[in-house]
Amino acid sequence: MHPTHYSWHAGENSLGKAIWPVPLALSPDELLSTWIVRLALANGCEPLVLTGFLWPGWRPWTIDLDRASDFSYLEPLSKYSGIRIGSLVAASLRAVARATTGTSKKPNTTGPWILSLGTRNRKRLGGLQYCSYCFNGDATPFYRLQWRLAWHTCCPNHQVILNDRCFWCRAAIEPHRLTTRNSNTAYCARCGDNHGDSLHLRAVSSAMAFQSLADAVVCSGVGRYGPVLMTACEWFIVVRYFLMLLRCTTRHPNSNLTKCLVSIHSQVGTLKSTMSGLPFELLPPFERAQMLCCVYGLVQAGPKELKAAMISWGLTSATMMQDWPSVPYPINELVNALPSRRRTRKRSGKCSQKPKPPQVVMRMWAKLCRKNYG
Ligand SMILES: [Zn+2]
Ligand SMILES: [Zn+2]
Repeated sequence: MHPTHYSWHAGENSLGKAIWPVPLALSPDELLSTWIVRLALANGCEPLVLTGFLWPGWRPWTIDLDRASDFSYLEPLSKYSGIRIGSLVAASLRAVARATTGTSKKPNTTGPWILSLGTRNRKRLGGLQYCSYCFNGDATPFYRLQWRLAWHTCCPNHQVILNDRCFWCRAAIEPHRLTTRNSNTAYCARCGDNHGDSLHLRAVSSAMAFQSLADAVVCSGVGRYGPVLMTACEWFIVVRYFLMLLRCTTRHPNSNLTKCLVSIHSQVGTLKSTMSGLPFELLPPFERAQMLCCVYGLVQAGPKELKAAMISWGLTSATMMQDWPSVPYPINELVNALPSRRRTRKRSGKCSQKPKPPQVVMRMWAKLCRKNYG
C-alpha cells in the first residue's frame, strides 16, 4: 500500500445479498458512519430512521460510531446492506487506533490522533474535515476515513488545507443530522449550503510531507527516528513529545528550549500559541498544520542534531521532561545524559483577584465559541 494513495480500505461493491431497495457500495476509503448516512438518504429516509430500524432502543448518533470498541452492532447492517462485516469494520477507525496507540480500546477521554467529535446528545462540536474539491470530483460526495485523523490537515490531491466547519455558517460538520431534503452528504445540516462550494487555504508543504510520513508509519507498523527503528505506537509517542515541547516554546518564546529547537528547525520560532489552548485533537486544521510542519523538521533532523543542540544551549533533563513522567525512547537516552538540575517554582495558594491577561481571556473566549458554534 503506497501511503500517498491514502488507501485505508478497498471498499466493497458486491451487493448481491442486499435486502434494501437501493443497495449502496462502500467507496474505497469511505468512513463507516458517513456511509450509513449516505445509505439512509439513498433509501429515502433520514439517518435517525434507519438506525432506529436497525438498532431499536439504541442511540448510535450520541456516540462515536467509528471508534466503537465492539462491532457486533454491525450484524444487522451487514445483513440488510449486503456489505460484509469485515469491510464495514475496515471503514471504521479501529485499525488506525490500534496502530497509533497499541490498543483498539476506546479511551474514556479524547483519544490520541483521532479528532474529537465533542458529542452532546446528537449534536457535535467538530471532529470531521472535508475537501470541497474531492466532493466535486465524486460521483456521489462521500467522507474519507482520513478526514477524522488529527495529522491529516491537507488534501494532497488538491493542495489545500481541509475545512472542519461549514464555510458559510461555521457549524461543525454533522452529516448524521441531514434530512431527506438533502440529496447527498455534502450539504450543511444547519444552513443547508453545499460544502462543495467552500473555499480553502493553500496547503502547507511540510504539513503534507508529515501527513505522508505518518500514513506510511501507520500502514507499515514501523517508524524511524534517525537510525532507530521503532513500532508505530512508539513513533507517535515521539511525535506527541515534540508537540508538547512546541507548546512550551510558544508559552516561553525567549527560553533556551525555544532557542534550542529553533536552531534545529527555524520555523519553530514563527509558531504562535494556539489561541484556544485546546488539546491537539480539538484544534482547527490550520493550527495543527503549523505545528506539524515544525514536528516534521524536528523528526527529520534526528537525535544526533537534537543532542548537539541540547548541549549547546545548556538544557537540563528537567527542561526536556517538562511535566512528562518520562521521556519516550530513544530520546530518553539523550535526555538522561543531560544535567538534572530541577527548576523550582514558587506557587501561591491564594486565588488572585486581579484581572486576567488578554491572552487568557482570548483562550476562554475561543473555548466558549467552540461550544456555541457546535
Ligand atoms: Zn481534495
Ligand atoms: Zn452551514
